[in-house]
Amino acid sequence: MTMRRAMLMLGVAAFATLPAHGVAQQAGYPIELVAPGKGTYTFPQGYETPWDKIQIMVTAKMSPNLFVIHGSEALDPAHPDASGGRVMALFGPDGVLMVDTQNRQVAEKTLQAIRSFTNAPLRIAVNTHIHGDHTGANAFFAKQGALIYSQENLRNEMLRPPPRANGQPAPAPDMAAVPVVTYTYNPATSGQPAVTFNMNGEIVDFIPMMPSHTAGDTIVRFRKANVIYIEDFYRNFGYPFADQANGGSIRGMLDAVDLIEKLADAKTTLVPGHGTLVKKQDLLPYRAMLVDIMAKVKALRDQGKSLKEVLAANLTAPYDKTTLGDTQQSKDRFITEAYDEVKDFPAIVDGKRTMPVHP
Ligand SMILES: [Zn+2]
Repeated sequence: MTMRRAMLMLGVAAFATLPAHGVAQQAGYPIELVAPGKGTYTFPQGYETPWDKIQIMVTAKMSPNLFVIHGSEALDPAHPDASGGRVMALFGPDGVLMVDTQNRQVAEKTLQAIRSFTNAPLRIAVNTHIHGDHTGANAFFAKQGALIYSQENLRNEMLRPPPRANGQPAPAPDMAAVPVVTYTYNPATSGQPAVTFNMNGEIVDFIPMMPSHTAGDTIVRFRKANVIYIEDFYRNFGYPFADQANGGSIRGMLDAVDLIEKLADAKTTLVPGHGTLVKKQDLLPYRAMLVDIMAKVKALRDQGKSLKEVLAANLTAPYDKTTLGDTQQSKDRFITEAYDEVKDFPAIVDGKRTMPVHP
């Protein structure tokens, strides 16, 4: 057999093991270094997050040059399993591409975590959604040189912050924090990337999402590593959270899960903003819970039950055992969202919904 023939055969054999979309996860990856905590956590009345104590560290490696950065556990009541939202960093000779920028208070520490593995210039950051644990350090990283990408809706949400709870207008946004490069979600091309980067030997897709966790969500696919950052429409620490005021919806989160079913293969590592790393089959019980709770809440609301009565029905009880971080607050928020969504759900006006205020 000639050398050429042998190589061709080798090529065929290797190709046969590739997943449907044509790339294989690198052998030995992902490597998880620090798993998020499992709880339970309690914080005393009046507790304030001690930002100085929170550590920001590399918690997982998705490939030799694609790392996950996250905060330490048991200190941040908003995310006690691991503080803040996950950041991903792709690095190499073409510079650093970041997914999300973490909380403002830990900006320096997030940069130090990146500097622990690369000296390459910061070039690109993408925001998966507007929440402060994902965009809080935008201005800091923009000043370090990162050009910030997001859906246009996210940029608009940031430019027009809602009034404060006391009715006072919100302070003017810091323009340095506002994404510069924007794109939109188009239902006709759902799942297709709005932007593709070829850098550091990786192919990175920014895929705009339907209104789901918010109206400005983006997921980020790393084709060669076979990893998708799926942000917060899925979560496994605490009950689901659709930010309806910012255009999100539980039904949109169902659509988001269904899109992941199409985009991911069985081996794709899905990186949520919080909670544990998962595969697409792990999204199915979550999807079933969303459908079940929506149906049960609708049935009660159709019977004329008040929100208070629906909350008292303790509909999440069958899920408490398998849902980490199942605090009363997390349950009540989820059920209230379902209650608001099954009837008289306010339409999105100018990127926002005016949600009912429940006494
Ligand atoms: Zn988050």
